Amino acid sequence: MVNFTEIGSFQSKFELQGKEVLALGKTTVWQRLKKLKNLEKTIIKYQDDICEALKKDLGKSEAESKISEIFILLSELRHTRRNLSTWMTDKPISSPLFMLGSRSYIRHESKGRALIISPWNYPVLLSFSPLIGAVAAGCPVILKPSEYSANASVLIAKIVEEVFDEREATVVLGGVEAAQALLKLPFDHMYFTGSNAVGKVVMRAAAEHLSSVTLELGGKSPVVVTSSAYVPKASERIIFTKFFNNGQICIAPDYILVDKSKKDVFISSLKKEIDNLFGQAKTSRDYTRIINKRHYDRLKDLFEQSVEAGAEVIAGGEFIEDELYISPTILYVKDEDNPIMEQEIFGPIMPVFEYDGLEHAVQFINRIERSLASYIYTTSKKEETYFLNHTRSGGGAINHGLVQLANYNLPFGGSSQSGFGKAKGVESFLAFTNQRSLVKNSAYFSIVDLLGYPFNKAKLKIINLLLRWF
Ligand code: NAD
Repeated sequence: MVNFTEIGSFQSKFELQGKEVLALGKTTVWQRLKKLKNLEKTIIKYQDDICEALKKDLGKSEAESKISEIFILLSELRHTRRNLSTWMTDKPISSPLFMLGSRSYIRHESKGRALIISPWNYPVLLSFSPLIGAVAAGCPVILKPSEYSANASVLIAKIVEEVFDEREATVVLGGVEAAQALLKLPFDHMYFTGSNAVGKVVMRAAAEHLSSVTLELGGKSPVVVTSSAYVPKASERIIFTKFFNNGQICIAPDYILVDKSKKDVFISSLKKEIDNLFGQAKTSRDYTRIINKRHYDRLKDLFEQSVEAGAEVIAGGEFIEDELYISPTILYVKDEDNPIMEQEIFGPIMPVFEYDGLEHAVQFINRIERSLASYIYTTSKKEETYFLNHTRSGGGAINHGLVQLANYNLPFGGSSQSGFGKAKGVESFLAFTNQRSLVKNSAYFSIVDLLGYPFNKAKLKIINLLLRWF
């Protein structure tokens, strides 16, 4: 583990890792599996400490930490272990007839030195998930977790130190200055998870070195509740997925658009579900807290501005600074330009707008930058198809929320402003892999030889045939 104060030492670690790129890149599948197994064992060994750290950082309950961070992480890790041998194997690629006599294939090679910068909302999952991909691909890694989730970050550093030689993977603890200093180094791949604003900083830095980048960003993920939606289930699932981790999830529902015919019944059902799921949220062991005062203040400000601009408080609206507590809050908003629409909410405040016809709903959505997720609750195939055909997002779900993250077989990531490059399972492996395209030719004969200089009439005939038939 390296603290930012020892800046010179992480520069030297970067150089040290540079010397290992080729050696790590040619490690066998068994060597990589051993490291991943060791990582799995160590995460399991420290699972209670992880829960404790997350309790301190975010007030997360043990059950929530186990299901949303440890289980999702271990399932992805085991999936990688089960499939790595196939992923690493050279992939034969068919050749067109005019390349007869040659064999094309893809060799999976590590990209080289990797930088991973992770956020605070799922600090364990979002640090280790890309690390698994990098280790599977054979890349040395420097990982900088968030300074906001300080307890989890220290533990992440301890686990990495226990499992890996520092030439393979090391953790830098620190804040913005540490991240900015790291971004000055010419990594081969930069994998960033965080806000859109910092994503731009990372991309600018990557441009300086022509490093490849994966940007896992955020955005305002819409939820549409149509006139055909089954309201009791829709409201239960929306409350659960919005207030999980206190709304501090990149793919959490950000705002709701409900068909005007269902507005009243939907809103009263939402209120009922808050009671069902949390009872008194303030005393509920399941209800997470806001990460820190800065985000608490940001959310309080946003709430006040929204109400001042005409939003009606339907539920919640209680703020307790000492506890960084914000009650599950629902706002009914008429004005599409209410301040609540000016930033990603990333907290337990949920605005509900009504719409008149699905065309109106998609117009509303398409005014805003592309989201990481989008959701629709409907029982009509026609409505579902219309919604999918007329909107874009990184991923999403029909008649649920968040669940797309749990399937490691699905690529996870954004679209345009919500990021690019995909993660999870094979996609994480590929993010850190150079797919080297190779054509193996006979040492003695190749059709291509027939087509080289000097050109003559016979060769021109062959070329004309190619033009005609291939
Ligand atoms: P953030 O962008 O503020 O910070 C993320 C990381 O970047 C931290 O490690 C931080 O130290 C570093 N950082 C902050 N400012 C920096 C700067 N100026 N230069 C370089 N590095 C800097 O994000 P956050 O507040 O930690 O996380 C919340 C955001 O992350 C939300 O927008 C959320 O939607 C997004 N997010 C996305 C995903 C995803 O998978 N797409 C997952 C979780 C969170």
